[in-house]
Amino acid sequence: PRVSDIMNRQVISITEDEEIRVAAKRLLKDETNHLPVLDGNGALVGIITTYDVSKAVVNDGRLKQVKDIMTRKVIKTTPDEPVDIAAQKLEQNNISALPVVDATNRVVGILSAIDLGKLFGGRR
Ligand code: SAM
Repeated sequence: PRVSDIMNRQVISITEDEEIRVAAKRLLKDETNHLPVLDGNGALVGIITTYDVSKAVVNDGRLKQVKDIMTRKVIKTTPDEPVDIAAQKLEQNNISALPVVDATNRVVGILSAIDLGKLFGGRR
């Protein structure tokens, strides 16, 4: 199977100029742990997770915007990538989700470890 077979197409994202607390609210409201970060043109420029928000609170309350704390070197995948390659990226980088981008760096989905788990049929 390919990434497009199991990715989640309902992507909840945020823009880099938003305040960190808006990101925190969105993470809580939508019960997700990852928000792809977009620039003003809708291109993927980073990723922010519950981990990053928590760390920002602990380390330095002065940081205000998503772009101050997001991870800029995003590890990503594409719809046509085989899922086993995507799974390796998750494991090798100790992360739990990959934004899925098209050729113009637009986010078309998100692939999480949970989606991969569904492939193996088991509920746990
Ligand atoms: N294992 C935990 C997890 O999955 O979130 C914590 C470790 S993980 C290395 C946490 C860091 O990974 C966060 O700073 C987050 O921004 C970053 N991260 C998560 N997904 C990412 C991705 N697809 N590409 C790059 N960095 C990512």
